Amino acid sequence: MTDAIELDVSHVRLQDRPLVVCDVDDVVLQFIAPFEAFLESQGHQFLPRSFRLHGNIVSRSSGIALEDAEVTRLIGAFFEAQDQWQTPFELVTLTLEALSKEADIIFLTAMPPRFVDQRRRLLDRLGLTFPLLATEQPKGPVVQALHGDRSLPVAFVDDMARNLHSVRDHVSGCLLLHLMPDSAVHRLAPAAEAGIQRAEDWRHAAALISVHITR
Ligand SMILES: [Mg+2]
Repeated sequence: MTDAIELDVSHVRLQDRPLVVCDVDDVVLQFIAPFEAFLESQGHQFLPRSFRLHGNIVSRSSGIALEDAEVTRLIGAFFEAQDQWQTPFELVTLTLEALSKEADIIFLTAMPPRFVDQRRRLLDRLGLTFPLLATEQPKGPVVQALHGDRSLPVAFVDDMARNLHSVRDHVSGCLLLHLMPDSAVHRLAPAAEAGIQRAEDWRHAAALISVHITR
């Protein structure tokens, strides 16, 4: 399947070696835990009643769910100030640094693109200097555009089943790893379909990626 994509990836120059494409929120940087802390600081509370933010954030004083537009505004305010809130998962910096000796690493984040400068600064400060693409388009066509028809190994890591399914449907032979934090809301996440491997943590993900890219 080939879909036209609006995101220009032509500035990303891949070397002649394996590719690892990696989501950012709740894979590289903590999202849900610091977002909950941010909401508390604003007088709100996240109630993980389903796998979504909209409809599940309530005012601490009234208990009433915030309007969708206010939730969207709060998500933007959080991303605007992300460097004060978001921290990396354990081992992620060391693991990606080690993997980058064997493979190109690309960050593909579904964050609204207007916050890409803030994210770039935060990742750079953490030593995570790999190329960053921000788009709210489906991820499969983006990974397809990056990898093209190269016969080199490719791996994709994400916490959202729908992103893993999108990449599976566009990039044949891609190692698909489902990596997510053990949070109350992630326990409500839709399951990934057959053929997608669960990685328990970055140590486990690195072992699975190493096997895939060195065979
Ligand atoms: Mg994510």
